[in-house]
Amino acid sequence: MKKIIIANWKMQLSFKDSLILAKELKKKIKNPKNDTVICPGFLAIAPIVDILQGGDLLLGAQNCALKNRGALTGETSPATLNELGVKYVIIGHSERRLILKEDPDLINAKTKAALAAKLIPIICVGETLNERELGQTKKVLLAQVKSALKEVNIKNSSGIIIAYEPLWAIGTGEPIIPFEAEAIHIFLKAEAAKILGKKIRVVYGGSVNGSNAAQFLQEKNIDGLLIGSASLNVQEFASIVKL
Ligand code: PEP
Repeated sequence: MKKIIIANWKMQLSFKDSLILAKELKKKIKNPKNDTVICPGFLAIAPIVDILQGGDLLLGAQNCALKNRGALTGETSPATLNELGVKYVIIGHSERRLILKEDPDLINAKTKAALAAKLIPIICVGETLNERELGQTKKVLLAQVKSALKEVNIKNSSGIIIAYEPLWAIGTGEPIIPFEAEAIHIFLKAEAAKILGKKIRVVYGGSVNGSNAAQFLQEKNIDGLLIGSASLNVQEFASIVKL
């Protein structure tokens, strides 16, 4: 199966710069070896759908609402994202869990809403440095996976992706050792398969860049990468996609 490289632009770019980056990436990345997904901010999504026409990049969103229609002021419907041509959606990123206080029930509801709208959820899980030092990594990850996938059915869907993103590795320049990440990916795949009755993809995120990406992609059970800062640089991101 192809690996998948996902760019999370977060809220780092202006509207104008988002469109410029999308145009440059479309020009630079042709026929990528891996599936390549860019996740711009919501306002840039519609014009980027047009920019990406005829190209090889796929589109993701960074978040979605917990249902597809209704009285939910300020939220963005997964169904509307699908209507525009978005294929993937990041759910439960640690920044949303910590800063916006997204709880496990909300992440579970968003996962179900995304699947109902035929989007592929990319569910982020990860332990803090303190939890890691206390030897609680697997326990924390398992709790996050179980709650996110509670009563989730992927039989008629294109699947789910779990992104393993240790919080201490996000934006710190200190990624996990690929060999250690591989072991955690094996664990996450096995646990997710027990819950879903199906194999899913697990990707790694946290301080991946042009210099270390190959080491992660060489690991058998790391099915791809979720990339923040390094995805904002055209040359660097394009070089990772080519690996
Ligand atoms: C992220 O926040 O999803 C992420 C992986 O960021 P960075 O690559 O900058 O560590």
